[in-house]
Amino acid sequence: MDCVVDLEHGKCDCGVYAVEKIPCSHAIAAGTSASLHISTLVCPVYSKDFLFAGYSENIYPCVGQQVEKRTCFPTDVKRGPGRQKKSRWQSWLELSRMRGRKPRKQHKVIDAQNARKLAI
Ligand SMILES: [Zn+2]
Repeated sequence: MDCVVDLEHGKCDCGVYAVEKIPCSHAIAAGTSASLHISTLVCPVYSKDFLFAGYSENIYPCVGQQVEKRTCFPTDVKRGPGRQKKSRWQSWLELSRMRGRKPRKQHKVIDAQNARKLAI
């Protein structure tokens, strides 16, 4: 996919960089060719300073306010008409896991005894 990357405004045609504020592969390639360090492309909101500032003040529970007691039930799930979908668009995390070098499960070696059990 050919994308136009705007490093100054943190945007890319794929849309991932603008939403996540973490550079996508296109932004990383553009930043590397512009001899920028990748860490400078990440939004400062993800920095430790912002995290520490968020938790710098004490957080107290609400005292004196009555909280209504209610039983929560799961929502009713309505199925639409027709056959249910068997495939869906995968997220970038699922795709990156699929492309990963390490398989999530090791292949089992099936010996003759286990093969007979599976056949039955
Ligand atoms: Zn991109």
